[in-house]
Amino acid sequence: MDQIIIENLRVYAHHGVYREENEKGQSFYITAVMETDTRNAGTLDDLDLSTNYGEVCMFMNDFVTEHTYKLIETVAEKTAEAVLLKFPLIRRVTLEIRKPEAPIPLPFESVSVKVVRGWHRVYLSCGSNMGDRKAHLDGAVEALREDSMCHVIKCSDWIVTQPYGGVVQEDFLNGTIALDTLYTPAMLLQKLHEIEYAHDRERKIHWGPRTLDLDILLYEDCVMHTEELTIPHADMHNRYFVLKPLAQIAPYERHPVLGSSIGQMYEELVNDAGQACVKEKEGKMCDMEIENRETDDSKVTYVMENVHIERLTLEQAREIYGTYAHSDFPPEEIKPFDVIEETWGRGSYHAYGFYEGTTLCAYAFLVADVEKRLLLLDYFAVVRERRGQGYGSRALALLREGCAEWNALVIEVEDDELPDINEETRDVRKRRISFYTAAGCLMSTTRSRLWGVDYRIMAMPLMDRYALRCMADKLHAIYGNLYREDILRQHFEITAE
Ligand code: ADP
Ligand code: MG
Repeated sequence: MDQIIIENLRVYAHHGVYREENEKGQSFYITAVMETDTRNAGTLDDLDLSTNYGEVCMFMNDFVTEHTYKLIETVAEKTAEAVLLKFPLIRRVTLEIRKPEAPIPLPFESVSVKVVRGWHRVYLSCGSNMGDRKAHLDGAVEALREDSMCHVIKCSDWIVTQPYGGVVQEDFLNGTIALDTLYTPAMLLQKLHEIEYAHDRERKIHWGPRTLDLDILLYEDCVMHTEELTIPHADMHNRYFVLKPLAQIAPYERHPVLGSSIGQMYEELVNDAGQACVKEKEGKMCDMEIENRETDDSKVTYVMENVHIERLTLEQAREIYGTYAHSDFPPEEIKPFDVIEETWGRGSYHAYGFYEGTTLCAYAFLVADVEKRLLLLDYFAVVRERRGQGYGSRALALLREGCAEWNALVIEVEDDELPDINEETRDVRKRRISFYTAAGCLMSTTRSRLWGVDYRIMAMPLMDRYALRCMADKLHAIYGNLYREDILRQHFEITAE
């Protein structure tokens, strides 16, 4: 991976075991080697896509002067963690703290401590077969999202599966979660246990009913075995309820011991009819109901998996826009198709259809900023007959896959925090926001007003760990593709950042 290097940043601070050191202070020198992908920033000459080394220097200077520790081990540990939390594009940092004036009564040049810390990609499995199963799984994801040491990258669909291990009990709801974490494997297990217990998990019967079970499947390419922890998970290759949802979010990830990809392992398990662990359900393999994650009640509804995405031609887009847009969107959001056509002609407008067979289920129209590699979700709707059945989240997941080479998908949602809206409107807006949040979108601090409508700006990172910074500038750049500057000046304003 590419590196950004800061060498020997001098900071005057008060770390040390002796009182004199704490009172008088001395110089410390920090060297940081930050691993980050600079190709995007380098190609486009855009600082937004990189980490500003000046900001890192100021941040480390403030951090190291504002805290006082006895050991430079601690200075290194805490500073590395703070840098990784503060600058989201840095995957890994090698941090050396040098202390040339350390109180040693012998001639020496310098002492130092060097640590390497970084984000680790982890895959978890989650399962529940007691109480409100969906609420338990959603709650686990929420708890992980709230922990700054974890970044939830992706969640699979929640699938209904039959219990494993011979204990008679309710069907399970299972899924997998991709996560980046600063925790070590042992710390992560501890965190998962805390989340399980917060969901009233009692460890009574092995393989018995549980409100919530969270297991570590893979932790980067780590292979380890202790009394508490076996990684990769010892039985994952035999478990349909693990491999099915894992193959959905990480088909190319490899098992570090067996060597095969998750996709291969899943194929092998399904093809091997002799596998006792694949349960039969009414004569066919239990391949099965996908949980609807769009509605927020706990009712399990089922959606077909065979929806696919197609890039539309201009003529298809014109037809769909003409047929559906006027009934799916309020009049103030409708623009003449000419505007779309003209933007399309400049390569800055794309449209996708989501089909079941040949039937249109949903559509997405996008403004593209080629230079910043951003997409704006201009129109997104599920056709009337298919609403409330999970097609929206399915379509968004397909869109994310289809647009994987872009940086982010920017989404405007109507402001749910305006003081002068009624409770019903607020509720609808909040629900829309949670729909996007559940699909992996992040809320920025930016607000805008376009043609008199107030929006909050969200974004779905398409590239790993995209930073939601300067969304106002980004939004402006995107709209520059759609409207002339004078029209923008009149109808578009950033109301807060
Ligand atoms: P299971 O997950 O096998 O159904 P439990 O959730 O009760 O059962 O786990 C029992 C113990 O398994 C945990 O307390 C933990 O110490 C241990 N364990 C070993 N490897 C792992 C792993 N990869 N992920 C989670 N727990 C693990
Ligand atoms: Mg477990």
